[in-house]
Amino acid sequence: MTRLVHDFDIIISGRSFVGHAQAVALVDALGPDFRIALLDRTSATVGAALDGAVDQHGNAYPQGGRAFAISAGSQRMLEVLGLWSEVRDEAHPVRKIVLTDSELGAGVRRHVMSYDNTLDDHAPASFILQSDILEAALRRRVGMLQAAGAVTVINDASPKSIATDAFSTTTTLNDGTEIKAPLAIAADGRRSQLRKLVGIKLTSWSHNQIGIVTQVRHSRPHDGRAIQHFLPSGPFAILPLPGERSCVTWSEAADNAQRILAMTDAEFLEEVKLRFGAELGVLELVGPRQSWPLETHVARSFVADRLALVGDAARGVHPIAGQGLNLGLRDVAALTEVVAEAVRVGLDPGAGDTLAAYQQWRRFDSVISTTAFDGLNRLFSNDGVLLRAARDAGMGLLDRMPWAKQQLVNTAAGMSGDVPKLLRGEAV
Ligand SMILES: Cc1cc2nc3c(=O)[nH]c(=O)nc-3n(C[C@H](O)[C@H](O)[C@H](O)COP(=O)(O)OP(=O)(O)OC[C@H]3O[C@@H](n4cnc5c(N)ncnc54)[C@H](O)[C@@H]3O)c2cc1C
Repeated sequence: MTRLVHDFDIIISGRSFVGHAQAVALVDALGPDFRIALLDRTSATVGAALDGAVDQHGNAYPQGGRAFAISAGSQRMLEVLGLWSEVRDEAHPVRKIVLTDSELGAGVRRHVMSYDNTLDDHAPASFILQSDILEAALRRRVGMLQAAGAVTVINDASPKSIATDAFSTTTTLNDGTEIKAPLAIAADGRRSQLRKLVGIKLTSWSHNQIGIVTQVRHSRPHDGRAIQHFLPSGPFAILPLPGERSCVTWSEAADNAQRILAMTDAEFLEEVKLRFGAELGVLELVGPRQSWPLETHVARSFVADRLALVGDAARGVHPIAGQGLNLGLRDVAALTEVVAEAVRVGLDPGAGDTLAAYQQWRRFDSVISTTAFDGLNRLFSNDGVLLRAARDAGMGLLDRMPWAKQQLVNTAAGMSGDVPKLLRGEAV
């Protein structure tokens, strides 16, 4: 490949899950001569931070504790990129999904729908993986790419301004350094600085809920079941991890969440037990408590002159379906495909046509997802007797329609619509 004349071929701002995955996918597709700058606003030793994440003491981002539902599509992508073998032993397959709908104090959490979480070829449709394990694997790989000269990680770097001409975009960092490339990618999370600098506005709203995450060990086996209790103040998900542990991802009405987060560990465990149900036996807290304000947003454009948004910089969804990271990885797969196609035929990776193809592929799908997850949350975070009767009747009907449940599984697995190559398990 002919080396482009700019300082870098691509600048990626944001060194979390999506930014790391974007760097790895581009080098995998275009080879180590393709030079990538990866901007990290922290120093080398600090881990990735989801914007707004705090522990129970209000400190920014504690490591571990949190877990992702990794869809089969994302898993195939990690496999193609050679990352899955590094995390596979720690990823627990989700074999069955159980949904319940009940009041907070109900003695029994009645199942309203349950289904096998497998694809047509019987492979699991999703896995639960701790965020710190995924992060460590991504960091190791980017470290190797750094050693090979393909990726230059710039620490303590935050974009201060961005200027674009006919051939390149120049990002000026907080220390005055200027870096130049034909394309910049904003993977800098929901408060994206690059997005702000180019003036892309958001459509956003708050759910008036707080996401709480913790880990528990239980005396009975989960058998790979993921359980979602729909409760009046928000969904409470129990996600199976190896070693008879589960990650709890819980959306709670904001005022009640503040009260719960201020509790001692013993009091907090009682609140978890009140929601958890008795199916998994005796519970013990084994992870830190973390919380996030829950908001939904979609960028009004996913591209600007020589700039593309990926991950939470492009859109942030309610965690009800555990899809935020999966959508971000789908962005990475789609953007890698359009950029690689352009570069291979000697075209400019930051040209308007290339970015328009990316936007067309990803933005409509994102608007649909954000609206669907928001609608689900509104439908279920509600205690109206009539509404509960109607939704339970609807779920009961769906529960008797195996083909419809299989469609749900395929969609959540990232296997529906125009699926990018990486999510199909094919190299770009
Ligand atoms: C409670 C909860 C549960 C969730 N569960 C799941 C789940 O089960 N499955 C799933 O798929 N998703 C889940 N998500 C969503 C998922 O966490 C996010 O979608 C994902 O972390 C987004 O990754 P990202 O890399 O785009 O952004 P982030 O993880 O927010 O990373 C952004 C990065 O950009 C950096 N940055 C920010 N500003 C600058 C700057 N000015 N300069 C340079 N760098 C900057 C930050 O330091 C950070 O490293 C959940 C979210 C919540 C809140």
